[in-house]
Parts: sequence; C-alpha cells; structure tokens
Amino acid sequence: MRIPNKLKAFGTVISVIKVEEPTEITRDGNCIGRYDADASCIVLTKRTTSQKLLSPDVKCETFLHEVLHVINNYMLEDTRRLEEGQIDQMSKGLFAIIKDNKLRFDE
Ligand SMILES: [Zn+2]
Repeated sequence: MRIPNKLKAFGTVISVIKVEEPTEITRDGNCIGRYDADASCIVLTKRTTSQKLLSPDVKCETFLHEVLHVINNYMLEDTRRLEEGQIDQMSKGLFAIIKDNKLRFDE
C-alpha cells in the first residue's frame, strides 16, 4: 500500500505527514503514529526510537490504525467511541485480512 500524503475523509482533507523519528510525534517517543483532530493531520514516523526503519507492514498497519482514529472521531458519538486498545485490535485485524487476502480496491 502506498501511503498517501493527503486523505479525503468526511468532507475534509487530512494531511499525512511523515517524520523521521517518534520523538517528532511525542516528546517521549512512545508513538509511531498519531492522529491530531485539531490540526487535521496524521503523523507517521519512518523509524523507531532505536533508528531502525519501520517495515512496510508496520507502516501500513499504523496508517490504518490512524485512519480508524479518524473514523472513530467523525462517525461515532462521544459516548460510543472506541478505546485505544479496541482501535489497535481493529487495525491489526483489518491489516491482517487485507494482507492475507491480497485485497486491492483499484480494480
Ligand atoms: Zn491509537
């Protein structure tokens, strides 16, 4: 999957920004991706805190994870929003099914 630089979602455009290191996302460097609803952007890192490049699979799964945060934010009422752990399980499951079945949406 080619990760786009912009994402159209629910009548808005969300920037997808790729940074080098997790510390450019959060000060403690604990995240490899983040959705910022206020700034309308998804930020993804290219490397781990130990400077290793993320694998394409990890990058794609992280992108899907942040997209699920976008959907969670736009489509679900505050009281029905998914928790971080649920988003994480959903993105891992979605990525596994897409990958295991070699699903493509451009045919
Ligand atoms: Zn998350």
